Amino acid sequence: MPDLTMLPSLVFRTLRTANFRCLRKFAWTFGVKGLVAVEKFKRRLRRGDYFPPFLYLSITNSCNLRCQGCWVDVTAPPSHLKLDTLDRVIRDARAHGNVFFGILGGEPFMHPGLMDLLAAHPDCYFQVFTNGQFITEKTATRLRELGNATPLISIEGRELISNERRRGQDVFNRSLRGLENSLRAGLLTGVATSLCRTNIDDLLTETWLRELIQRGVHYVWYHGYRPVGPDMNPDLALRPDQLTRVRRFVVEMRARMPIAIIDAYYDHEGRALCPMVTGISHHIGPTGGIEPCPIIQFAAESIDDPRGVFATIKDSAFLRDFRETSARHTRGCVILERPDVVRELVQKHGARDTTLRGTAMAELDAMTPRYSQWLPGEEVPERHWAYRLAKRYWFHEFGAYRHARPDAEGRARKLRQDLETHDPSPAPQPTAAHD
Ligand code: SF4
Repeated sequence: MPDLTMLPSLVFRTLRTANFRCLRKFAWTFGVKGLVAVEKFKRRLRRGDYFPPFLYLSITNSCNLRCQGCWVDVTAPPSHLKLDTLDRVIRDARAHGNVFFGILGGEPFMHPGLMDLLAAHPDCYFQVFTNGQFITEKTATRLRELGNATPLISIEGRELISNERRRGQDVFNRSLRGLENSLRAGLLTGVATSLCRTNIDDLLTETWLRELIQRGVHYVWYHGYRPVGPDMNPDLALRPDQLTRVRRFVVEMRARMPIAIIDAYYDHEGRALCPMVTGISHHIGPTGGIEPCPIIQFAAESIDDPRGVFATIKDSAFLRDFRETSARHTRGCVILERPDVVRELVQKHGARDTTLRGTAMAELDAMTPRYSQWLPGEEVPERHWAYRLAKRYWFHEFGAYRHARPDAEGRARKLRQDLETHDPSPAPQPTAAHD
């Protein structure tokens, strides 16, 4: 039975710790206007028009860390998206009802114009994916004044694992300092972790969540480690039994702990989905390519297209084919499970490699198919009514899998075998596309 005090204590804790202006902007811009943006997305879908309500913008490739499994060209010369280009993209999306934007990198605070970008769009809300190491007291104060951004600070382990995973010194404490500056300034602040074999036992725990609550953190986001890019480290990727453990833990903690827990991979019944396939989000890379998602670094179109980002995405045969073809093969992550399908789509549409290193196709060819969030027979439905409600109406498959039913039975049979054998890195049954 969900803990009836969870939501009141989460709301009370947030009202007590977050700056009122930041809360008001979050509630109105992200909350109310964000839901309106999703309703507009649904109306577009009914007309057969695809334009995601959420755009993720990687504004720079620069970063001060060198994380295992990072797909960004962090060792290449800086490539910052220009402010006027970003303004144009945001205004066009805004004109079609979008108000929420995810800001990624590299490390977004290494983009010299980030604060000006946030200030230029007071009627929009931004989630900044950051390692937190550039959030000084002064930066946090400026973010409070603007009120329209929430820092989501990535923590990949405690001292030793953080240094190992991110190839830096004192990484954990430097990110914690950014976290403390954000919380002291009264910012709505989150912590993100890409769960892998070296941090799951430490960070997928009630103890860690209680520590974050104690620090004043408002929400967490658990991602699954994606072994992609020039430095894949596939041995870090979670096994299917660990992927199921993550899902059970998240659902359990949502029902009990006064901290919000985000995920982007399951609907209210615990059915797996891919945000790219549902069309709820697409990604713009640091070189301007319009990509299916951050880790699929290929594009047939770019934000320099004079038609503007709305028309370019709406009319993209590449993105439409990517969504529909992926849905026929899996409800999970097509690049993890079927890198061969990604290769076929890229070649079919003559899409370009959007990386500065120019090795995205070779990396794809080096990938071994592996399990992702789609684990038929292991579905874990949401327990808490608030998450059930939110997902039921505003975060589900939006009909993306209605006509395409990937072979769940075959997958479930293979999965059961793999769960029994504890194979360290089982490959999922390649699913035949079912129309
Ligand atoms: S393809 Fe994979 S990484 Fe991309 S949005 Fe889908 S599940 Fe996420």
